[in-house]
Amino acid sequence: VPDAASLIQQLRALVDDAGFLTDPGRTAPMLRDHRAQYRGHALAVVAPADTAAVSRVLAFCNEHRIGVVPQGGNTGYCGGATPDASSSQLLLSLERLDRVRAIDSANYTITAEAGCILAKLQSAAADADLYLPLSLGAEGSCMLGGNLSTNAGGLNVIRYGMARELVLGLEVVLPDGRVLDVLTGLRKDNTGYDIKSLFLGAEGTLGVITAACLKLYPALRSRATAFVAVRDPAAAVALLTALRGASGDCVSSFELIPRVAVELTSQHIPGVVDPLSAPSAWYVLCEISSSRPDEPLDALLEKTLAAAFDGGLVSDAAVAIDERQRELFWRLRESIPESQRKEGANIKHDISVPVSQVPRFIDVAGRWVEQHIPQGVLCAYGHLGDGNLHFNVNQRAGFTAAQLQAIEPKAKRAIHDFVKEFGGSFSAEHGIGQLKVFELERYANPLELELMQRVKHAFDPNGIMNPGKVLRRP
Ligand SMILES: Cc1cc2nc3c(=O)[nH]c(=O)nc-3n(C[C@H](O)[C@H](O)[C@H](O)COP(=O)(O)OP(=O)(O)OC[C@H]3O[C@@H](n4cnc5c(N)ncnc54)[C@H](O)[C@@H]3O)c2cc1C
Repeated sequence: VPDAASLIQQLRALVDDAGFLTDPGRTAPMLRDHRAQYRGHALAVVAPADTAAVSRVLAFCNEHRIGVVPQGGNTGYCGGATPDASSSQLLLSLERLDRVRAIDSANYTITAEAGCILAKLQSAAADADLYLPLSLGAEGSCMLGGNLSTNAGGLNVIRYGMARELVLGLEVVLPDGRVLDVLTGLRKDNTGYDIKSLFLGAEGTLGVITAACLKLYPALRSRATAFVAVRDPAAAVALLTALRGASGDCVSSFELIPRVAVELTSQHIPGVVDPLSAPSAWYVLCEISSSRPDEPLDALLEKTLAAAFDGGLVSDAAVAIDERQRELFWRLRESIPESQRKEGANIKHDISVPVSQVPRFIDVAGRWVEQHIPQGVLCAYGHLGDGNLHFNVNQRAGFTAAQLQAIEPKAKRAIHDFVKEFGGSFSAEHGIGQLKVFELERYANPLELELMQRVKHAFDPNGIMNPGKVLRRP
């Protein structure tokens, strides 16, 4: 059996000089997750330059049973891209596979490599007068391969779907080093099982995505955005229904924001101010958009809000008068996680229930939080249009982080039990990683879990791909 030093030497020979990373200044941030919840040690850190080099590395690791942890922008929330502490796993960064291979304007597609930063892809699409709708708070650093491997959601799901729904083709290196080339731009292709879809949301446990072909849309030419004080979450859902109907289903974002988030962001984030004069318990940040240049969306939004005001759903609203004001509204929404961090500890839940059930869920689970967590304050916000809430509990002033953390296991169990009762998901958009492996075992349909284990074994019989993530090691 070769020792570690010999394996490292052989790995070094499989990539170019720039692809073997040894500087601790570079590698240290790659060996912990974005929220510093997980820290690992790696046998080596490699960043291959192309698909052929990824293939050589995987074939070698498969032969020597070396665990491989793929990494993109390392912005994931579940520790999926962090190796374990054994110093026996390889960290495989995709950051150098960063080429846009093609844009086909008539086919409305972009083909790009896994290490492309999402914002770069959005710009490439915009330069071709097209629109890539995948958008999330981490878009300045997350990468395409990570987005697809986590089946990222984000801000435009209500209109365009999750990352999975944007994918037409994939190039994937299998654990044994063979390259699965299904990198087509076909919208219609009913030729047997849709194998590529298994890699989407697999969090690197089945193979390494090296490139993808994504759907694009006509560039957006009109947009209207409003920050709205709503009576309660039920009023927010009623407003969503009204706006979908009135706009011909042009709602691209519909975010629920509680008062506590407006207070936290105004307090902790420079430049953020409450857009409205009187406080309200709940708010909505909504956006409608169209590819038609002359669409009177502001007037349509104002008319819908006026009707909602008359109906008692809405007490106040500000429609953005220009791009600067729109950005201020979005800054408030997107800086909620940072303001929570600055405030202190928090317990996070990334849950979804059917949109129609959101008000009752907030009521039932919110009352539980109030009764059982005196050391915490509920901060439930997020993508209401998708039924997805970040149902977080923040540390209350006068209590310590340790006091809040002491109740975390009990809180998670209770909230996730409510989610199950409501027919929802305990992980709406962040995945499983290493954080929620036991939650998956507890809440997944047993037959579905068995099928996942069989798929894992069929694709990766030696168990080298991201061991211990999503599924427990056998
Ligand atoms: C400020 C902020 C806001 C966020 N907002 C959202 C949001 O609105 N919606 C949302 O869904 N998420 C959100 N996230 C979470 C995160 O950005 C997403 O999960 C993102 O898709 C991860 O991409 P990444 O490149 O950083 O992946 P990484 O963190 O590097 O990896 C994530 C997982 O994918 C695997 N992986 C990475 N690349 C590959 C590859 N090429 N092939 C196979 N496996 C691979 C890794 O092993 C790991 O399991 C947010 C994060 C932050 C920090």
